[in-house]
Formats: sequence, structure tokens, C-alpha cells
Amino acid sequence: MSHLMNTYGRLPVTFEKGEGVWLFDNHGEKYLDALSGVAVNGLGHAHPKLIQAINQQVAKLIHVSNIYHIREQELLADKLCEVSGMDKVFFCNSGCEANEASIKLARLYGHQRGVANPEIIVMEKSFHGRTLATLSATGNRKAQAGFEPLVSGFVRVPYDDVEAVKQVALNNKNVVAILVEPVQGEGGINIPHDATGYLKALREICDTQGWLLMVDEVQTGIGRTGTWFAFQHTEIQPDVMSLAKGLGSGVPIGACLARGVAAETFTPGKHGSTFGGNPLATAAGLATLSIIQEEKLRENADKMGNLIAQGFRAAFADTPEVVSIRNAGLMIGVELDRPCAELVKLALAEHMLINVTAERVIRLLPPLVINESEVAHLVSKLSAVVKKFLQHSASK
Ligand SMILES: *Cc1c(COP(=O)(O)O)cnc(C)c1O
Repeated sequence: MSHLMNTYGRLPVTFEKGEGVWLFDNHGEKYLDALSGVAVNGLGHAHPKLIQAINQQVAKLIHVSNIYHIREQELLADKLCEVSGMDKVFFCNSGCEANEASIKLARLYGHQRGVANPEIIVMEKSFHGRTLATLSATGNRKAQAGFEPLVSGFVRVPYDDVEAVKQVALNNKNVVAILVEPVQGEGGINIPHDATGYLKALREICDTQGWLLMVDEVQTGIGRTGTWFAFQHTEIQPDVMSLAKGLGSGVPIGACLARGVAAETFTPGKHGSTFGGNPLATAAGLATLSIIQEEKLRENADKMGNLIAQGFRAAFADTPEVVSIRNAGLMIGVELDRPCAELVKLALAEHMLINVTAERVIRLLPPLVINESEVAHLVSKLSAVVKKFLQHSASK
């Protein structure tokens, strides 16, 4: 019997090594990884330049406390600010911690402006993490059930609904910020109907109200949607942005970035993290960003993501059970007319690693390094699995 706590339904496979978009199990069987450890392994597995950068750093220094200057951390902050237009970075170890930092920053910002009980607008179907505050911000009742009392201070509105936010602005004087995913990942690859217009409208409301616009780019960031960050498909700039997943290519790291007044909110003693931004994690982050740049992986994410979506559109042209195919770069969602969690196992049996979220949405997050022949392999094999599944399962 396993001594691991029962927090995951695990698939019956154990991986031993990887190379590019491929993973190999302990019997030497080869799988196409179309999930990337949930948007983490953007560089694929065992990227030689990443291995070299990490090895060199491990040989020098893995960890020192944040009570000292850390060279790699400063360099990564410089680089992140250069590519994002933000001013300051706080480093932590995960996505929920990055959002915790954003939430604390917003509350502090509120208190500094004389709001005694600051509140943050969050969205239905959102996902922000599993700590108590980020779970409370998350728009999924199933994930929250059993953990009450939840953290207060969140106001929920439907996603992609500017009017609902305006209504809150009229009636609630405690609001100090909006926390939003530019594209909802866990929620089902939900792309606002006017993707650029939505963030722009939220930006305008924030400007008028003196609120912070905080984007959760934990899943959408680091090249995933074809730009460094998903907000860069628009002309707006957020006040706060949270990052994690793809930032360290698997070495745990998160970051909360801020700009303008938001960047001046924290002062010593207000926030911290023992591991956050240590030399190993930030060296991995630096290597990740430079490899994405050198190998033009943002451009590749844009191209390959569209190719996959096109491929599925062609493959499912005569399949009315496929309700919608949507993508933002290499965040790809294929929505069916019925629950399809079972597809994860069926795809595994065909040596493909995929995910199903929001019950009916096949979610693909392949490594940013995926190439045309791997795309062709994925589209043809996965569409066959889906068609077979549809024949054998009853619609809801
Ligand atoms: C995964 C995710 C998180 C949580 O990240 P953890 O590293 O698991 O804490 C937060 N926000 C979004 C949008 C995510 O996709």
C-alpha cells in the first residue's frame, strides 16, 4: 500500500526519462506528451541547454537566503521586466503563491487608500490555486467543498461579462482590484468572445475606479499563447501579473510582477519566502527565457497551435459531437457534447498524454518545441481515439 496521501487519481504509468515532446515509461514504451506536466515543460524534456544551465548552477550554488543579494534572481527580474513592461518582481515557488502575493498586494494597496475591508473581483470558472485564499478566489464549488470557511474578500462575476463588473463598480465601494485569467485554463480553455476587447474594457474600469488589474498568467504566460504573456495580444498593460508553471521548465518557481504604484506597495517585512527566487530556480528561469527567445518558441507556439486547431477542424468536420475547437497558441481546447474524462485513459493506451477539464473539454498543452510531424502524429492519432470514443459512448 502506498504511503502517499490520497490527493490524486493517478494513471497506471511511471515515466523514467524524456526527450523533446516524448516520454519513456519504465518498460521503454514511448508516449507523445501533449500536456507538458500541465504547461510546465515548455522546452520539452531534457533540453540540452537547460540541462547545462542547471548543472552549472547546481555546481556553484543551489540556495542562499533572501537576506542576501542573489545575482541570478536580479538577472531574472531584469529579464522578466524587460519582456513584460512591468517594474518589479517578487519570487515564490508556485502559481498559488504568486496569486497569494497578488492578493496580499491588492489588500495592502486597498488599506493604503483607506479601504478597511478591501475586496477583489474574481470570475466564475476561474482557477487560481489550492491554498485557502486562492481556493476562495477560484470559481469552482467542487474544489472548495469541505474547506469552508473560505477566505472572504472576493466578489464573483461571470467571465467575459464586462457589464457585470460595471454593476459591481456602481454598488461596491470596497473593491480594489480585479483578478482574471486572460484565457481560462482549468475552466475549459475559455477565450473571451472579444479577447482583446475584454481586457481593454477591464483596464478602463480599473483606471476609472482606481482598481488594480491583476492578470493570472500562471498557465498562459511564458510563450504558451504565442507571445511572452497573453495580455500582450492586447495593447493594455496590467498592474499585477502572476507567473509560475512554464517559468522554470520544471524547477519550481513562481513570480508576482507589478508596475507603477502597485510595484511600490510591499515594504520589508510585508511578504517573503524561504525558497523563493533561489539561485537554482532563477537560473532555470533565465535559461528558459533565453532558450525560448533563441529558438523562436513563441513563434512556434503560435504556428503549431493554429496547425493543431486546423487539423482538428478538418478531422472533425463531419463530427457534430465536437461542439467547439478553440486555441490560443498552444493552449488548445476541443469541447465535446458529453463528459469525456475517460478519454485520458483511452489516449494513454494509444501512447498520448492529454487532459480533460471542465468535464467535456479535451485540453492540450504540448511543449512549445513541438514540430510539424509531431503535430500531424498527434492530430491523426487523437482524432481517431475521439471518434472511436464517440461511437461507443452515449450522448448526455
Ligand atoms: C495551475 C494554475 C495555478 C496554480 O498553480 P500551482 O503552481 O499549482 O499552485 C494558478 N492559476 C492558474 C491560472 C493555473 O493554471
